[in-house]
Amino acid sequence: MDNHDPRMQDLAIEDDDFGYSLRPETLDEFIGQERAKEQLRIHIEAAKKRGDALEHVLLVSPPGLGKTTLAKIIANEMQTNFKQAIGPIMERLDLASTLTNLEKSDILFIDEIHRMKGYVQESLYPAMEDYQLDLAIGQGPASDVVQISIAPFTLVGATTREGLLAGPFRDRFGIRIHLDYYEAEDIQQAIRINSGKLDINIDENAEYNLARRSRGTMRIANKLLANVRDYAQVKGDGVLSHEIAEEALEFFGIDERGLDAQDYAYFQTLIKKFNGRAGLKALAVALSEDERTISEVYEPYYIKEGFLMLTPGGRVATDSAYEYFDYPVNSQISLFSQP
Ligand code: ADP
Repeated sequence: MDNHDPRMQDLAIEDDDFGYSLRPETLDEFIGQERAKEQLRIHIEAAKKRGDALEHVLLVSPPGLGKTTLAKIIANEMQTNFKQAIGPIMERLDLASTLTNLEKSDILFIDEIHRMKGYVQESLYPAMEDYQLDLAIGQGPASDVVQISIAPFTLVGATTREGLLAGPFRDRFGIRIHLDYYEAEDIQQAIRINSGKLDINIDENAEYNLARRSRGTMRIANKLLANVRDYAQVKGDGVLSHEIAEEALEFFGIDERGLDAQDYAYFQTLIKKFNGRAGLKALAVALSEDERTISEVYEPYYIKEGFLMLTPGGRVATDSAYEYFDYPVNSQISLFSQP
């Protein structure tokens, strides 16, 4: 990955900071997201009854909410092979060789599908629609196009930015699923289950405390659990009590709402340096952070928490942000003033 944000880095890694995978393997084990699971259950059961490949699936959510996990679960539930490709680096030829190697009903998972090159996306259209691949042979006037049949397969695309997909591409996904940030109770359940798998002795208040500070994101919950477990082993008696969890979270600089030093830097920059309103580019330069990390990793959570609004005139810090980060609210510019 070309991204250095710790919340993005382990996208492609199998395990969850513990040396092995904690990923749930069936729909029943996948916590929360009841609507998404119900949608998938129905489509999977229908496809299996008909003996068909499942329709193409588009999974949409901010990072770390379970898109990759769900794609693997779909393959498990369909009892088919799971193949994975990274969208942005795929070329037409990579795609052709991947597609021709698929067996009936296999799942082809393409992560970050919005970052796939436009011409590679387009070469997927006939494959998705008619299980055909148009291959150009030779170059110039003597070139020819041959059509190759491929096995009926299921494309599972994952994206953090559905809006960046071309309309005709998006329309070719028969099943579209949005995952929402998790409630603290769902995350607490995951922490309890994972602590059990990892033999971590954690008390209920500590579970809830970690859950509340996980930004509604399962990947962050697993990361916090790993860090706090280490702290408890070194500084405590091995038991992950409420007190030890509090102490550890303070040590790691994670506040009541799961915000850390980078988040404080974001709002300090937006509010103090830019007087509460700024464009993405200006923020990225001021924070030495890439635009994609800011807009796809940080900001969706700020918006959800009511700290930030995206307006045609730029990013605007809300009154709640001024209050929470302790800046005088009266210094905020009017929402309706010119940038
Ligand atoms: P994404 O692909 O959306 O970035 P992942 O599928 O990689 O997210 O999920 C990150 C981690 O969070 C996974 O390794 C998995 O252990 C955990 N996880 C995600 N969703 C769930 C869930 N619903 N229940 C339990 N664990 C989950």
